Amino acid sequence: MADIIIDMEKCILCGKCIINCPFSAIEKFDDYIVLGENCKACGQCREVCPVEAIGMEENKKETLDKNEWRDILVYIEYHHNRVHPISYQLIGKAYELGVSIGYDVYGIVVGKNTELSKEQLKNYPLKKVFLYETEEYFKSDLYEEILSSCIGSIKPSVVLIGGTLEGRSLAPRAAIEFKTGLTADCTELILGENTDLVQIRPAFGGNIMAQIVTPDTRPQLATVRYNVMKPIEPSLDHEVEFILDDEIGHKASSKLTILDTIPTPKIKGIQEQETLVVAGKGVKRKEDLAMLEELANLLGGELASTRGLVEKGWMTSDRQIGLSGQSVRPKLLITCGVSGSVQFMAGIGGAENIIAINSDIDARIFSIAHYPILGDLYEIIPELIGMIEEKGKAI
Ligand SMILES: Cc1cc2nc3c(=O)[nH]c(=O)nc-3n(C[C@H](O)[C@H](O)[C@H](O)COP(=O)(O)OP(=O)(O)OC[C@H]3O[C@@H](n4cnc5c(N)ncnc54)[C@H](O)[C@@H]3O)c2cc1C
Repeated sequence: MADIIIDMEKCILCGKCIINCPFSAIEKFDDYIVLGENCKACGQCREVCPVEAIGMEENKKETLDKNEWRDILVYIEYHHNRVHPISYQLIGKAYELGVSIGYDVYGIVVGKNTELSKEQLKNYPLKKVFLYETEEYFKSDLYEEILSSCIGSIKPSVVLIGGTLEGRSLAPRAAIEFKTGLTADCTELILGENTDLVQIRPAFGGNIMAQIVTPDTRPQLATVRYNVMKPIEPSLDHEVEFILDDEIGHKASSKLTILDTIPTPKIKGIQEQETLVVAGKGVKRKEDLAMLEELANLLGGELASTRGLVEKGWMTSDRQIGLSGQSVRPKLLITCGVSGSVQFMAGIGGAENIIAINSDIDARIFSIAHYPILGDLYEIIPELIGMIEEKGKAI
């Protein structure tokens, strides 16, 4: 973009630029004309100026050599000696992208006892994993400094970070450090031959899928929505080289002091459940949800819902599956009175087995259900509960 320059020696303060600015970005203060933040350098003011007092100066943008930035770096989230499951989803996607363009995948682990992560990562398709030893708890400034120094030394074209609380705090800080773009909560990623990462995510409340690129800067940073990408399985074909903290010798420090920590009880959200029973608007009354909850409990799972029931106030939003809710990857998902809207189905792509109960033979949910059951949920669910209880007694 160009910059607008106003030559106050020529300016006669006629105000034509102010009236004609489509962005209301120009103001007059005493004997001065001032450009505000809204200026888009459209040049309209320059055209209407009768005394040619307004000029434009091209920004001397540093030209980017994309070849200087290559490969993919995955930020591997690590808490209490355990690699967060989202990291395996990121590694899987990074590997797939890397293969398509001949890039290697690197990993970075920051935290306490990082050496214990070796066992959990050793057979994943990562060329090298950098282990940075710190205190137990996430400190945004310290972690950003470490991540940025790692980025600075590897110069990856792409950096993938989980769309978790930690990732959402870390990624924007790193993006600012490198004055580069960041797309949050991506649901799909494609790497073009020109090495530009097409970062796809719902926008405008899920009404469109935006495709975002960062063509002028590197690295390209993206956070990725939990449970959308398929996790990769380890394989003996892969052997990771681990680079220890002592060899890197980072000097990062934090301005934050943690005075106390109060552990909250660990509650499994619907994203961690292996079995989910999903209530849709086919459920007629709020009290009927008890029947679905009973089914979920018998199967050792949880009750979730479509947005329809959240809007009715029958279910809380943390139980909503879909584009504007949570993405899930259970082994078993039973939908009850769910039509299968595009927005709902966007959240269940990772479900291994889907049983769909619906009374409408044309319901869209049947197109993806592994076990479609055509019928009235008020007849089928009690029958299912009875069968499971019978089986329980027999055992
Ligand atoms: C921007 C945007 C974002 C959205 N995000 C989400 C989201 O994240 N998650 C989400 O779920 N929705 C979302 N929606 C809403 C979505 O478009 C649908 O309106 C919603 O998913 C429909 O929910 P449903 O399937 O419960 O209800 P319906 O579409 O009304 O379907 C009810 C189904 O129940 C069946 N049925 C009725 N009675 C019975 C019975 N007795 N036995 C068996 N079957 C029966 C019917 O045949 C029907 O198929 C979003 C919409 C927009 C515009």
